[in-house]
This record gives sequence, structure tokens and C-alpha cells, in this order.
Amino acid sequence: MEIFKKASEMQAWSRQIIKQGETICLVPTMGYFHKGHLSLIEKGKTLYDRLVVSIFVNPTQFGENEDLDSYPVDLDNDLCHAERLHTDAVFLPSKNEMYKENFQAYVELANLPNHLCGLSRPVHFKGVATIVTKLFNIVMPDAAVFGQKDYQQLRIIRQMTKDLNFDIKIIGAPIVREDDGLAMSSRNAYLTPKQRESGLCLSKSIEKAKAMIKLGETDADIILNKIDVFINSFEKAQIDYATLCDPETLETVKGIKGKTLFALAVNFGKTRLIDNAILDPEQ
Ligand code: AMP
Repeated sequence: MEIFKKASEMQAWSRQIIKQGETICLVPTMGYFHKGHLSLIEKGKTLYDRLVVSIFVNPTQFGENEDLDSYPVDLDNDLCHAERLHTDAVFLPSKNEMYKENFQAYVELANLPNHLCGLSRPVHFKGVATIVTKLFNIVMPDAAVFGQKDYQQLRIIRQMTKDLNFDIKIIGAPIVREDDGLAMSSRNAYLTPKQRESGLCLSKSIEKAKAMIKLGETDADIILNKIDVFINSFEKAQIDYATLCDPETLETVKGIKGKTLFALAVNFGKTRLIDNAILDPEQ
């Protein structure tokens, strides 16, 4: 497994692979791997000749009071997993390598960031779109895999790829969960035992919303009011948002007609957890 710290070295490797007529799949991550990350690597590996994982805690996607400085790191463990899963190359740049002095070129989308997580994390998706653009230009992949756990991120990257004519296939991978339903996240490591218990309110809310829709409820306000009461019954859980919206535009909906995104973010002290599901009244 190759490890590249310089963008120019990564690019040179990719150029060589492309010249050989082989395909490349990229899995961008911020490291501290869990089974969610590993599922993306496995998926990419089966579909393309070469698999590149990037590990970079991207400073521009963190707001001022967020957890950039405390974001968990375990590089040895990440590299061990990457190697075990036959990753071909790991791109492991420093912050200075990715953001050289006098860096100025950011990528920003007009509408999709003005919903859901973008409301409480105003700089987040500008940072995400910028770093993913840079990774696309450095790794030059045929495809990239992203988790549906970060639904808004995946939606934004699909839009950006289309709008900016990146010739890259964007693959969405299903949410990997703990046995009790909690969506896996590097940030779960921050949770105290009590918060970990309360963290189940997210996946349980999804089950609750699904059950209401199955019983024929179509009024978004009625569903969301019940979900609010439900989440507030969990100790230490503070709702950031719990929303029913259009899966494409991310605009909130009043009634459940076709496929609808149920997305939520809940704070437990300083730890913010997210989860989502597509609800389909036809199913
Ligand atoms: P991160 O390291 O948190 O930036 O995540 C890297 C990639 O892993 C992103 O595409 C995430 O959506 C994806 N991911 C994170 N958690 C999960 C999960 N529980 N299931 C599936 N994919 C995930």
C-alpha cells in the first residue's frame, strides 16, 4: 500500500494508473475508521481496479466553536484497516499541503447548504465542497464513494459534480449502524455512557416516523410534533433539527406524498449526532 503526503506524488501515481488503463475509486475520509468507513472502502474495491483512501481532517469545514482541535485520530489503526482491505494508496496530506499560504479558491453551492445541517454549520459545506473538489483534482478518480449517513453532503457532492462537469461517478453507500441502531460515527467516541444511551433517540425517531407513515399519517407537523416530544423525553438530548423534506431540494414538506427525507440532528452536550432515512408511504 502506497502512502502519499504530497498532492504532486498522489497525482503522479494516479496518472500512471490511468495510463495503464486501470480505473480508480476514491473514498474521502477524516480518519478514525469505524465499520461505516470500511464499508465504503469494500464497496469501492469491488467495483474499480484501484482504491484510494484519503485521510484528512479538513479545517475549512469546521466552524469556530466546533471540534477541529479535539477530532479523534488513530492513524495506525486506520492504516492497518486500509491495508487489510487491500487499499492501493492512502492520501495523507498535511493542512499546509492542502491549504498553501494565500489560498483563495473556495467552492460554494447556492441553495442546498441553506437547509438542515447548513443552518447551524454555516461554513461547513463550503469547506466540504472545496476539499472534495481538490481531492477530485488530485486523485483524478473514475468514482468516489460517500456515505448516506451524511445525506446533505452526498446530495451537495452529486450536485457539485454535475454542475462543475466532473467526470466522476458518485456512489452512495448505506448507513452502517451499531447493533442497537445508533449510526456509526467517529464522534460517537465523545459520548458519555449516559449520552450514548440517549443517542438511540435518533434511530428510534426514524422507526417512529416510519411507523406513523405506515399507519397512514401524512401531515408533517403532526409527525414532527410527536418526534419532538419523543426526543425531548431522552435525557441530555437537545434537538438541533428534525425535519421532513424533499430528498432532492431539501426543502421542507407539509405533507408526505412520495419519497420523503426524514433528517435529524441532536446535540448531547458538545457532541452533535445526525441520522436520516428516506420514508416511502408506498412501501
Ligand atoms: P468522515 O470521516 O466522518 O468524514 O466520513 C467519511 C465518509 O464515511 C463519508 O462519506 C461519510 O458519509 C461516511 N460514513 C460515516 N459514517 C458512516 C456510517 N455509519 N455508515 C456509512 N457511511 C458512513
